[in-house]
Amino acid sequence: MRDVDVVIVGASLAAAAAAKRTVDAGLETVVLERKELPRHKICSGILSPRGHRFLLENFGPLPRETLHEPTSCRGVTFHFPCRVEMPMDFFHGTTPHLHRKYSDHWAIQRSGAEVHDQTSFAGLEERTDHIIVHARRGGEPIEYRARQVIGADGPSSLVVRAVYPDYPKQIPWFFVGQKFHEIIDCPLSPDYFHFWFHPGLGHYTWSHARDGRQIVGVGFKRGDNFARKHQVVEQYLKDKHGVQLKPADDDHEGCAENFGPSLINRYVFGKGNVLVTGQAAGFLNMIGEGMSCALHSGAISGEAIVEAARRNRPVQEIYRKMIASEVRRCSDQWNPLKIAFDRPHEADFPEALLKLSWRERKLVLRDMWNFIVLFKEFKWGRQIAAAALQRPLLGGYPLQKWL
Ligand SMILES: Cc1cc2nc3c(=O)[nH]c(=O)nc-3n(C[C@H](O)[C@H](O)[C@H](O)COP(=O)(O)OP(=O)(O)OC[C@H]3O[C@@H](n4cnc5c(N)ncnc54)[C@H](O)[C@@H]3O)c2cc1C
Repeated sequence: MRDVDVVIVGASLAAAAAAKRTVDAGLETVVLERKELPRHKICSGILSPRGHRFLLENFGPLPRETLHEPTSCRGVTFHFPCRVEMPMDFFHGTTPHLHRKYSDHWAIQRSGAEVHDQTSFAGLEERTDHIIVHARRGGEPIEYRARQVIGADGPSSLVVRAVYPDYPKQIPWFFVGQKFHEIIDCPLSPDYFHFWFHPGLGHYTWSHARDGRQIVGVGFKRGDNFARKHQVVEQYLKDKHGVQLKPADDDHEGCAENFGPSLINRYVFGKGNVLVTGQAAGFLNMIGEGMSCALHSGAISGEAIVEAARRNRPVQEIYRKMIASEVRRCSDQWNPLKIAFDRPHEADFPEALLKLSWRERKLVLRDMWNFIVLFKEFKWGRQIAAAALQRPLLGGYPLQKWL
């Protein structure tokens, strides 16, 4: 059995950031990744300015092979049923368009951690002063003994399931799927990520250019027919935007997403010496941007381990204090009061709105409201309102709601 200070599950961006902190502090750190590296990751790869700064400061400039074509993104364009378009540039200029297969591999290598790929986390046993981690490599069981474990294993986290078996049943699950098309003619600017606030198209509808092809993506609920949803969007793009695409290539893909915890401050940070971070913990910013909060929360989980050892304090106590800043940043993005009176995002929505005529503004706000109503069935309204009101009173979001 291998004896180490820290085992990190998942070799993604949250893991790379966490490992950077523990390795820099001299802790022996092993990262377990179920897939063979470099591994594929379904993602648009649009990095926010804050995520970009994190990568530059911690890992250095991104090599060319970590980027898709176009290599950068100017911002986001919102589209509405009223046909108004709102392009919004990121603050401080363009950001890299990450090729997750190579960017994540580059970051995890730069962290300096020892990485065991093709090694799946399978479960854990908490003992008094250490944790036994059960994993499988090539079908064979393998065990690690660690002082701390960080679950950075993404939305369908097995680490979360190991610690809170009922958690997955407590949150709604969304599915996203995307298809890739050769382009005949596409008037949508390749410099932007395009997002539709259109209840008729579904909960999450996006499109952008990548490596000479156009991605058409849709979000859907369990039981929905992905192919039909995609077809509706493809037809809409053709009819309303003049987008002409060839039939989708064979390499379509999809996955399940734990969308919701950051809207209602229902994060899951672990128990005892097991920390949970990144999207596994529930971090997801507006428009499904999850890389920047994965990086920052990951770094905080690593720092919490270092800090807890230095101060001889329980690691959960330290982690929950330190992670509150990232919770504020992430949940602020969904907080209606923050959106109305502050600038919680990294592109200027209020400024773009003010550029519109009064009539257009009214139409956009009406369309946004109709889009929000689509989410009514999840009964988040009261919880979002409560969190929004608690934010100024407490200076943050209540810790009691976290697991
Ligand atoms: C279609 C789509 C588009 C997106 N577009 C964007 C975007 O443009 N910009 C943005 O910022 N975010 C985007 N996101 C969100 C972003 O991809 C995630 O929020 C982010 O990758 C979360 O990072 P993470 O490090 O927490 O986990 P993940 O990136 O999910 O990585 C988890 C890792 O853990 C590994 N793993 C899982 N289970 C096990 C196990 N049992 N044992 C060992 N390893 C395991 C996985 O293989 C994976 O490598 C998108 C997501 C989707 C689905």
